[in-house]
Amino acid sequence: MTFLDISLVKKRFGGLKAADDISLSLEQGSLTALVGPNGCGKSTLFNLITGALPVDSGNITFKGEEITSLPAHKIARKGMGRKFQVPAIFPELTVLENLQVPALQKAGLFNRKASSGHLSETLKTINLSAKKEALAETLSHGEKQWLEIGMILMQSPDLILLDEPTAGMTAAETKATAELIHRINKLGKITLLVIEHDIGFIEQLDCEIHVMARGKILKSGDFKSIRNDPEVQELYFGKTEAGHA
Ligand code: ADP
Ligand code: MG
Repeated sequence: MTFLDISLVKKRFGGLKAADDISLSLEQGSLTALVGPNGCGKSTLFNLITGALPVDSGNITFKGEEITSLPAHKIARKGMGRKFQVPAIFPELTVLENLQVPALQKAGLFNRKASSGHLSETLKTINLSAKKEALAETLSHGEKQWLEIGMILMQSPDLILLDEPTAGMTAAETKATAELIHRINKLGKITLLVIEHDIGFIEQLDCEIHVMARGKILKSGDFKSIRNDPEVQELYFGKTEAGHA
C-alpha cells in the first residue's frame, strides 16, 4: 500500500492550470522534496492534498483511504500535519504553552494535558529546551519556524507537509532546519514532504526530489541528477519562467 498516493490531480484557476495531471507517491517513512519556481503550483498541491481546496479531477489516497473529497479537518485528523509559509504561533504565549495548544485541541474533553514526555521530547527535537519559558515573540525568526514545527509534532502526525520552512532564514538557521527535518524523519518514522524553491536547501535535504514547473512534475530523481538536468537548469537559471528561484 502506498502511504500517500496522488493520481492525475488537476486544478484550474480560470485559465491557469495550477495542477495539471500531477501524480506522486510517497512511501511511509520517506523524506521527499518538491521544488520549483514561484507560482509553479507547489502550495496549490498542498492545498489539494490537505483538502483546503477541492480537486477538479483526480484522486488522492492516504494510508489506503480515499481522502479526495474530504473536508480539511477530517484529513488533518487522519494524521496529516501542515506547516504554512508564514509561522502561525501565539506570540504572547511561552514556547511551552504554544506546544500545549495543539494537544488541547486534539485531546478534547477527556485528556486535556499533553504528556510531559511528549513535550520534553518535542522541545529537544526542535532545539528549544533552553527557551521553553521564553515568550514566543522573543524568538528569532528561525526559532519561530521550529516552534511551529514543534506544534505540528505535538499532534503526532504520520505525515508532515512543510511549505518553504526556511523562508527568510539565515544560512545557519537553514542548515539547522535541514538537520531538524532529518531528525524528525529518522526518530519518529514520520513521512515528510517539503516544498522549497531554494535549490541550496534541497541539496542539504539529500532526498528524492520532484521538480515542478507550470503545474506539472517535470523531473524526479536525486539532487545530482536534478542539478545536471538541462531542463531543470533552464528552469532555474534560464529566462523562461518569471519569479525568483
Ligand atoms: P507556488 O507555491 O509554487 O509558488 P502556488 O501554488 O501558490 O505556487 O500558485 C500557483 C499559481 O496558481 C499561481 O499563478 C497563483 O497565482 C495561482 N493561485 C494559487 N492559489 C490560487 C487561488 N486560490 N485562486 C486563484 N489563483 C490561485
Ligand atoms: Mg508557495
